[in-house]
Amino acid sequence: MSEIFIGIDVGGTNVKIGLFDSELKMICKTSITTEADMGPEVVINNMAQAAKELLTEAGFSLQDIVWVGIGTPGPAKYSEGIIIKSTNMPKFKNVPICKMLNERLGAPVVYDNDANVACWGEYAVGAGKGVKDIVFFTLGTGIGGGIVSNGELVHGCDENGAELGHMIIYPNGRSCNCGQKGCVEAYASADSTARRATEAIEAGAESSLKQVLDEKGKITSKDIYGHLAKGDKLAKEITDGTAEALAITCINMLHTTEPKRIIFTGGMIAAGDVLLNRIKDFFNEHIWTLKKETVEICFAMLGEDTGIIGAAALARHAKQQGKLK
Ligand SMILES: [Zn+2]
Repeated sequence: MSEIFIGIDVGGTNVKIGLFDSELKMICKTSITTEADMGPEVVINNMAQAAKELLTEAGFSLQDIVWVGIGTPGPAKYSEGIIIKSTNMPKFKNVPICKMLNERLGAPVVYDNDANVACWGEYAVGAGKGVKDIVFFTLGTGIGGGIVSNGELVHGCDENGAELGHMIIYPNGRSCNCGQKGCVEAYASADSTARRATEAIEAGAESSLKQVLDEKGKITSKDIYGHLAKGDKLAKEITDGTAEALAITCINMLHTTEPKRIIFTGGMIAAGDVLLNRIKDFFNEHIWTLKKETVEICFAMLGEDTGIIGAAALARHAKQQGKLK
């Protein structure tokens, strides 16, 4: 009998599924459309069916599955395996996803939110490998986060901790989608970065990005980095604003759980060293001198398969911990 770990990454559009061996090497993967409108029964049946087909194609059977790991956006009661609700899957309310998958695949299921799953993937086999304490940020539409402290994910008393995007870094600052003011997400997510550039141009700032705004009706963070490379002054100011907000957040996290590595992922890291180096510059400018050399700030390594790798890594961790099936 083989030892197979299954990683499942549930998004609003697609569900990705991967089979992994005990070294977390990917054996094969597939992707199906989520069809969230069909409701939880259909969605979970479809993902179980796709996992079974993947097993058969690779020459395995249900008996070879050791543990299954799954990640979805929150909020959820992860330890009980229940999705409470989901903004991109409105029909999912109080869905016992672990129990339903367990009934269909015959293996135990471990569950966490998508940011924690990605964080755990980087910790297990990516940019966080080899250390026991990391902090992880996803820079997308919003900012998600994950914390591994002494080799375990930090969940908090109600399992919704590590919402690092909503740390307030500028009191009474920009309004955030969460209702607070001055959150790091309101400055440094891909959307906020683009919005700050748009607002500056609308207020009269001179920039080669104005032509993009006029022609396309909007600016993306990708546009900003493109124009930064061409020497645009506003693009530099906006990038610095993003980098400084992230650097302050890194410092706050350093003083909280003292990570050895702080890892960024998401579309924004395509900006490359030009963003990473500015984060490090601002970090060194603001940090308490004693802590300067203790943390490595870097970009994630796993790319588009992070969700399934992380979920499989959580599955393997559950087995290693000897969790009850
Ligand atoms: Zn917020």
